[in-house]
Amino acid sequence: MKGKQMKNYIYADNAATTRLDDAAFDAMLPYLKENYANPSQPYSFSRKTKHALKESRRIIAECINAEPSEIFFTSGGTESDNWAIKNYTSASDVRYVTTSAIEHHAVLNAAKNADCIHTIIPVDECGYVKSEKLSEILNRPRDAAVSCESTLVSVMLANNEIGTIEPIGELAAIAHEKGALFHTDAVQAVGHIPVDVKRLGVDMLSASAHKFNGPKGIGFLYSKNGRLRPFHDGGAQEFGMRAGTENVAYIVAMAAALKANCEAMAANIQRITETENAFVSELNNTQIDYIRNGSGHRIPGNVSISIKNADGEMLLHRLDLMGICVSTGSACDSVNTQVSHVIKAIDVPEEYAKGTIRISFGKYNTPEEALEIARAISKVCGGRI
Ligand code: PLP
Repeated sequence: MKGKQMKNYIYADNAATTRLDDAAFDAMLPYLKENYANPSQPYSFSRKTKHALKESRRIIAECINAEPSEIFFTSGGTESDNWAIKNYTSASDVRYVTTSAIEHHAVLNAAKNADCIHTIIPVDECGYVKSEKLSEILNRPRDAAVSCESTLVSVMLANNEIGTIEPIGELAAIAHEKGALFHTDAVQAVGHIPVDVKRLGVDMLSASAHKFNGPKGIGFLYSKNGRLRPFHDGGAQEFGMRAGTENVAYIVAMAAALKANCEAMAANIQRITETENAFVSELNNTQIDYIRNGSGHRIPGNVSISIKNADGEMLLHRLDLMGICVSTGSACDSVNTQVSHVIKAIDVPEEYAKGTIRISFGKYNTPEEALEIARAISKVCGGRI
């Protein structure tokens, strides 16, 4: 910024997006300038971009224990989720889509608008999808002409608002027992906690680079054995499944970011957990009356709190004035405050629900920043510090 001082923000909204990793930034630069050839062309100038695509696919596959032929590059989590759901429903061999109540809108709205019967699995007060509930839904009598084999189950690996990590292995096993397919939206998990598609036993998995310190507008869909139908028509890119010239620079950066996060995962988890703990203990010192949302088994750094008789949106704006970026679990329209579908699904009591904010720490946050955020919340909400 010329002539103007850049404002120093404390950025604690890493579930919304993350800062680009330096290694990812460096990795993509040559593909923006020197190596700009279209990887589909046969001449030797395309060799580097072709190789970069292949190597990025290999790196990404290795990070989630998949095969390179099972990774399909997309424009991000939203596209991956839509592809996973609409891929089957549009082919009319899947008539039922069963999702949890706390999925991201990319899944919920894709299921709502797909040509299928959408069933919603409720969650408990921690945000867990109970395996008995899924069994019960899959055991329900169906249209005689369609069996469970025509069902797709989609449950997220980690929730973006409250961080709860779902028992995906267990849920996928139940779905498979009934012959159903299983998709997981792992956008909040990939690059943050170990993700192994074979262990999870999923058929499809969505991921998005900007949630793991890669660039925005790029992601991937894993599909077991590469079983997919083209999402749109055009050229033969992505094994003929996703037409369109590949965004090589961003794909290279996504692979570099994921590799960096996977290699440093244990250290990142430790650092982020320390930052989160510093925040929670300082918040407790303020003696503010609040509920911590989600389960004990959460994505590191995700702190969703509901403060009694507070207004989450007003709090967000007050924190913004202090240079602190967090997110809210509710939004005001001109008449009243709309509590998010996730906060509603976990039954947060009304006097707390409207005062929900999400602080999500990432690998670049420090415990000192965490203390500052807790003290700022205290100041706005009349705490003791
Ligand atoms: N799924 C989850 C759980 C998310 O948190 C998000 C983004 O917030 C998405 C999907 C959408 O991802 P993208 O922004 O890459 O389209």
